[in-house]
Amino acid sequence: MSDRDYDILIVGGGPGGLACGQYSARAGRKTAIIEEMACGGQTVIIDEIENYPGLGTVSGYSIGSAFEEQAVTFGCEIIYATVDLVEKNEDGSFTVKTSDGDYHAPAVVISTGAKHRNLGVPGEEELRGHGVSYCATCDGPFFKNKKILVCGGGDSAVQEANYLTKLSDKITVCHRRDRFRAQSAVVKALEDTGKASFKMNHNVLSINGKDNKVSSVTFLDKSTGKEYTEDFDAVFVFVGNIPQTQVVPFVELDENGYIKTDNCMRTSVKGLFAVGDVRNTPFRQVVTAASDGAVAAHIASEYIDEIRKTVY
Ligand code: NAP
Repeated sequence: MSDRDYDILIVGGGPGGLACGQYSARAGRKTAIIEEMACGGQTVIIDEIENYPGLGTVSGYSIGSAFEEQAVTFGCEIIYATVDLVEKNEDGSFTVKTSDGDYHAPAVVISTGAKHRNLGVPGEEELRGHGVSYCATCDGPFFKNKKILVCGGGDSAVQEANYLTKLSDKITVCHRRDRFRAQSAVVKALEDTGKASFKMNHNVLSINGKDNKVSSVTFLDKSTGKEYTEDFDAVFVFVGNIPQTQVVPFVELDENGYIKTDNCMRTSVKGLFAVGDVRNTPFRQVVTAASDGAVAAHIASEYIDEIRKTVY
């Protein structure tokens, strides 16, 4: 085995990839996670995680670091590089093409997660970084006691709005429907702060700026059909995610663009597995990503035993 040959290569170092790395390395497989930035995935931008079983309330950053440390302790390598493409070779193995050259393995686990979706309204692009943000823990502190709009109706929007109530009591959540998609416990926690108001059945039509900063937002109230503009200092956008599947263009996706897997994390391609937010799962949590990772490591390990028995 050359130093570029592994048993299991994991693309992406979020909770799913790190858990997979831990289980795979602990099972004695030569394992590496290829990550382009820092490990931890989306946990690094989450203020607090209060629902990972057994841990109580911990910071997102600390849980990501703990996952990484445990994977490395068991012998999982972390390679910092950008993965451009995963290629299936004629012998059934994979070549992972990266900014650091090619790596090879009989089994590859895709753990590339999902990136935030844009709202897609006038002003959003121009005012990004000037009051338009996609990360409350990163940018919230710039808007202490300011008037903040949060867009979206899922867990991210409601949970991040809750975080922002620690910085300002002028938080408004705007959702395009009359009912939140977020879990009711998450919505209740926000309501209980008493610091948020809600614009349900509202579309954002534009984000407006003055002196290169967000100054107001124009809305359509869908229940009345009325358009109006209200002053805001910042707009935080949490309107869902786009699964990052570009590195495996040959794999089967579902109608929303997530990688199709069975309950063993197998994709449509033999030897290729997918875990966490990038796959078609009904519930996206740190705990479910970690569980996916453990399952993928176990099944990928069995797969390697199987092909080594028959091929080599
Ligand atoms: P999500 O669940 O897909 O919700 C996206 C929200 O944005 C939806 O309410 C959607 O409206 C709205 N939306 C989408 N496109 C829009 C547009 N163009 N304009 C206006 N609104 C738009 O995404 P998420 O909240 O980022 O969560 C992603 C996953 O992570 C979910 O599985 C979630 O449960 C999980 N998560 C869990 C926690 C937690 O458990 N504490 C925290 C964060 C995230 P509609 O409702 O009308 O579709």
